[in-house]
Amino acid sequence: MPMPAPMPAAFLGHGSPMNALEENRYTAAWRAFGAAVPRPRAILAISAHWHIDALAVTAMPRPRTIHDFYGFPQALFDLQYPAPGLPQLAEEVADTVAPDFVVGADRDGWGLDHGTWSVLVHAFPEADIPVVQLSLDARKPLDWHLALGAKLAPLRQRGVLVMGSGNLVHNLRALDWAQPEGGFDWARRFDADARAVLAERPHDLPALATHPDYRKAVPTDEHFLPLLYLAGLSAAAGRASDVLVDGFAYGSLSMAAFTLDADRVLPA
Ligand code: ZN
Repeated sequence: MPMPAPMPAAFLGHGSPMNALEENRYTAAWRAFGAAVPRPRAILAISAHWHIDALAVTAMPRPRTIHDFYGFPQALFDLQYPAPGLPQLAEEVADTVAPDFVVGADRDGWGLDHGTWSVLVHAFPEADIPVVQLSLDARKPLDWHLALGAKLAPLRQRGVLVMGSGNLVHNLRALDWAQPEGGFDWARRFDADARAVLAERPHDLPALATHPDYRKAVPTDEHFLPLLYLAGLSAAAGRASDVLVDGFAYGSLSMAAFTLDADRVLPA
């Protein structure tokens, strides 16, 4: 029997939580991606906002919508993304990454944070596809995250859409409200160089830690790490990822998003 085509994978640059309520060219791109892919059995989300000292996976049947931010309009706190969980997938993830990694099942602690739901409300607005989150283990170096991403590759053959959600450039201290769609020079340089590495030698993405603009573009690495999972999957597949959408917000955020194996389903 021929192998089924692997489920596409993605890294989506989520930016401000307000994108959950807004319609713009980023949310339109996320929507186009969700509409184009074959219906996933489940989504495995790797969000910048679950960055903890452990490798954990959500295993509750009804994950709660977590509003992990302050100072936003009530409409954003009222938003719910009632997708079911899939405890069985938590076990599959543990089996898939064994024996090198120990995964803890999280039955009541986390849920779906805004890194996950702010993009899924657009990509899969029906909220009827099970969503499981995999934590970012804050204790591990970049190359460990890349390797873990590569290890998730077999899940794609089983209908699981692996989705990283973060931002390739993310410096909240440097935000410049005067340029809502602009990018600082250092942000543009790092973004361009990272994109070239991702396209040509995704396994080398961790080497960006020595880039002269890394400290400014990635002052803390939680928003960058989810991209390493797509890079790992790309390296494992031996295929380059594609740019879904790109741009900058407030000078110091890159909104770039990338997909793997979605080129054959997305409209050109
Ligand atoms: Zn974020």
